[in-house]
Amino acid sequence: MKRTLASLDPTRLDGQRALVRVDFNCPVKDGVVTDDTRIRASLPTIRYLRERGARVVLFSHFGRPKGGPDPKYSIKPCVRPLETLLGVPVSFLDNPLGDDAVAATRRLPRGGIVLLENTRFFPGEETNDADLARRFAALGDLYVNDAFGSAHRAHASTAGVAQFLKPAVSGFLMESELKYLGEAVDRPKRPFIAVLGGAKISGKIDLIEALLPKVDQILIGGAMACTFFRAMGLQTGNSLVETDRLDVAKALLEKSGGKLILPRGGVIAPELKEGITTLTVPRESIPPGFAVFDIDPATMKDFAERIKSAGTVVWNGPMGVFETPPFDQGTRGVAQAMAEATERGAVTVVGGGDSAAAVAQAGLADKVTHVSTGGGASLEFLEGRALPGVAALDEV
Ligand code: ADP
Ligand code: MG
Repeated sequence: MKRTLASLDPTRLDGQRALVRVDFNCPVKDGVVTDDTRIRASLPTIRYLRERGARVVLFSHFGRPKGGPDPKYSIKPCVRPLETLLGVPVSFLDNPLGDDAVAATRRLPRGGIVLLENTRFFPGEETNDADLARRFAALGDLYVNDAFGSAHRAHASTAGVAQFLKPAVSGFLMESELKYLGEAVDRPKRPFIAVLGGAKISGKIDLIEALLPKVDQILIGGAMACTFFRAMGLQTGNSLVETDRLDVAKALLEKSGGKLILPRGGVIAPELKEGITTLTVPRESIPPGFAVFDIDPATMKDFAERIKSAGTVVWNGPMGVFETPPFDQGTRGVAQAMAEATERGAVTVVGGGDSAAAVAQAGLADKVTHVSTGGGASLEFLEGRALPGVAALDEV
């Protein structure tokens, strides 16, 4: 178990400088944040610290600047939305490694907030350089990691810094991610069902391998299913198939002990176009010149029934090209079934950037138990890998 912010004596936070790694890697257009979801997700931790008199020093990566500072990737656009959400001023430190930086953090009033410039502007961030980690550490009296979405990377701001700044604890967002994802895979209420989809099986082979011994069933959708179809000797027309993964798909089917449940058929079209006329065919009859872009309604119904009778459901990867209607139907059906399962008392967890977007698009984000904010990180967590940003935190 990792030490949490909530477990620290709150009276001792007064006046302390809390160095908080957040994930403010928000989409921006023309210098304006277009989606503040990630900033919102960090608010409980920031508010908790402020209300207890801590001086809050926030830092995060932002985009992928190549080799040093690049004004295009300044994190400054996050200041305004943060001020609006919190209703208090937030200052900005464009050179957190400068001579005056430590003094600037000490000058903050109790409950004051400063945001540091993009961590990736500093050489050594991505190589987890000890010297940089030490300089980050000098900016706080305790370290709080609330950036679950970055925890699968061993960077100076996510891993290294925790060696030099104690206590090193998880923030509220990090804590809930670890709780929900952890409980789902370690102590699942049964039946435990995983729903996997998305474009490729290549990125999810480790996930399938890791989940097979733990789950009761894995429901497969998305283009991934077509690679399995081909491995079974079926024709798949123009569907997206990873021909270099047919052997792996075959091996997975053989060792799955019947746990891998594939779609009965698909919704097909000659091309991917919004509003195009579609056909529904059984998986044995995918004609040449057509591609599968969604699971068929019969499969959707079958998957929905299975999901609704589950104790735990973990979902990663959409069932079809949900961005292009009418190929969003299968994904919507699964999202709806997840919501109904939750209402019946099941634990339902959504991981993966596109799956999270699909659930939000269906308006069901608050009808499931947990939507993970970390795409890559949630995938690695579910694969059973240790996340460096989590491993670096204090153990209780
Ligand atoms: P996540 O981000 O939730 O982990 P992935 O990134 O693995 O999900 O997969 C999402 C992508 O898979 C989406 O862009 C979706 O359009 C695509 N996809 C799903 N089904 C199909 C299909 N049948 N053919 C082509 N692409 C598909
Ligand atoms: Mg994705």
